Amino acid sequence: MTTYDLAVIGAGSGGVRAARIAASLGAKVVLAEESRIGGTCVIRGCVPKKLLVYASRFGVDFQDSSGFGWSHEAATFSWQRLLMSINAELARLETVYTQNLLSAGVRIVPFHAELLGAGGVKFRATGETIRARHILIATGARPATYEQLPGWDLCDTSDDIFGWESQPKRVLIHGAGYISVEFACLLARLGSEVTVVCRGSHILRGFDTELSQHLQSELQAAGITFLLHQTLGAVRQESASLKVELSGGASVCADAVVSALGRRPNVQGLGLQAAGINTDARGAIVVDKQFRTSAPDVFAVGDVTNPLQLTPVAIRDGQSFAQTLFAKGPALSRTTAIPTAVFTTPELGTVGLTEEDAVSHYGEVDVYICKFRPMKGVLSGASVQCLFKLIINRADDRILGAHVIGPEAGEIIQLLSVSLNMGARKSDLDVTLPVHPTLAEEILTMRTPVRRHSRSEAA
Ligand code: FAD
Repeated sequence: MTTYDLAVIGAGSGGVRAARIAASLGAKVVLAEESRIGGTCVIRGCVPKKLLVYASRFGVDFQDSSGFGWSHEAATFSWQRLLMSINAELARLETVYTQNLLSAGVRIVPFHAELLGAGGVKFRATGETIRARHILIATGARPATYEQLPGWDLCDTSDDIFGWESQPKRVLIHGAGYISVEFACLLARLGSEVTVVCRGSHILRGFDTELSQHLQSELQAAGITFLLHQTLGAVRQESASLKVELSGGASVCADAVVSALGRRPNVQGLGLQAAGINTDARGAIVVDKQFRTSAPDVFAVGDVTNPLQLTPVAIRDGQSFAQTLFAKGPALSRTTAIPTAVFTTPELGTVGLTEEDAVSHYGEVDVYICKFRPMKGVLSGASVQCLFKLIINRADDRILGAHVIGPEAGEIIQLLSVSLNMGARKSDLDVTLPVHPTLAEEILTMRTPVRRHSRSEAA
C-alpha cells in the first residue's frame, strides 16, 4: 500500500491550495475529488455567478447610454449563448487548476474518498486504499435541503441554475441570504420576474440592518417582489407551471422555484464517526487553531469547518495548514475583519462591525452616513442611490466598520479593509486627498456624524 505525506479530500479552494503548497514544499501528496477540480468557487459559485452578474448589467447599461448620446438597436439576450461562454471559461479554469496540481507533483484521484481510520483513505469507485501520515478534509458545503416541504423535489438550488437550459420567465427564490439576493438581482436584470420569499423582516440578516434595508428598497425599485415574514408551505406542479403555497395563505405561480436556505457542511459518506471526528450542531467539523480535528493527524479547512463560508477564508486556511505542517513556519495571521461583497446591482461591500454590533461592544460609537446619486445617474436618468457608512469608536477614533452600497462597492471595500485592518482612524481618512471625481472620494468627505451612540444604549 502506498504511503503519502498528505492525503487531501476535496479539490476546492482550500484543498487545492493546501495540496499545491504541500507538494511544492516536498511532500508526497494525493488529492481526491469526486466532482470537478476547482470546487464550488470555480464550478458553481463565485466565478460563474460573477460572470452572470456581468451579463446582467449590460441591459440597463444599454438603456442608460442613451442619456450620453448613444442610440442602439433593440438588444437581445440569449441565456444559452451566455451559459456556453461561461462553461467554456470554467473548463479552461479547471484545466489550469489541474495542470498546476500535476506540475507541483500532486497525484489526482477523481473519486469519492472516505476515511478508514489510523491514516487510511479509501477511494470508493476503485476500492483502492492508501495510507497517509496526514489527512486534510476540505470537502466544502452543499445547499441546505428542505425535504419536509411538500414538492421539495420540484425545487432547484443555486447549483441547478447553471444547468438551466432556458431562462425561466417567473422565478421564486426562497431565502434572503447573499446567494438568494444575488441570483434574484441578476435573474431580474436578465428579464425574469423574480419573487423573493423571506422569513424575516428584511433581507441579508447579519449584515448592517440599515444597509440591508437600503439594498432591499433599491432591488424593489428595480422590480423584484419581496414577500416578507413568510415561508413556503408547498410546491405543486400545475400544468406547465409551479404553484407555490405560502405560509401566509397566498400562492404564487412560477416557472422555477429556487431554494437558497444556506449551505451545510459536506460530510456525508466521509466515515467521520468511525474515524472519531467530532462535528458541531451544524454538522461542521470541529477544529482547533491549527486545523486539527479530534482524530490524530486528521485536519480540516474551509466551508466544512467554517460558518464564514468564503473562498479567501478557505484559501488562507489551506495555505496556512500546509505551511505550518511542511515548512514548520508560523500560521498565517488571520485578520480580524474579513471584507466581503454582495454582488447585486448596486453592490454591497462590507468590512468590520455592523452599527448594531459596534454599539453593543463599544457603546460610544459615532456613525457617519453619506447618501447620494452617482454622477453617472445624472445623465442616464438612473435613480440608484449610493449609501456609504462609517462606524467610528469615539474613544480612540478608530474605524470599526465600513459599509458601502453603490457601483463597484466590492472594489471600494477591498481597499478600505486594508486601512481598517491597519487600525486606521477617522482622522486618517480626513487627511487623505481624494481622487476626484470618483464615488470612493465620498468616504473621505464625511465630516459630521449623523448618530452618536452612548453607553446606555449598549446595556
Ligand atoms: P469547496 O470549494 O466546496 O470544495 C469542496 C470539494 O470537495 C468539492 O469539489 C466536492 O466535490 C469535493 N468533495 C466533497 N466530498 C468529497 C469526498 N468525500 N471525496 C472527494 N471529494 C469530495 N465566496 C466568496 O468568497 N465570494 C463569492 O462571491 C462567493 N459566491 C458564491 C456563490 C455561490 C452560488 C456559492 C454556492 C458559493 C459562493 N461563495 C463565495 C462561497 C465559496 O464558493 C466557498 O466558500 C468556497 O468554495 C469554499 O471552498 P472549500 O475548499 O471549503 O470547499
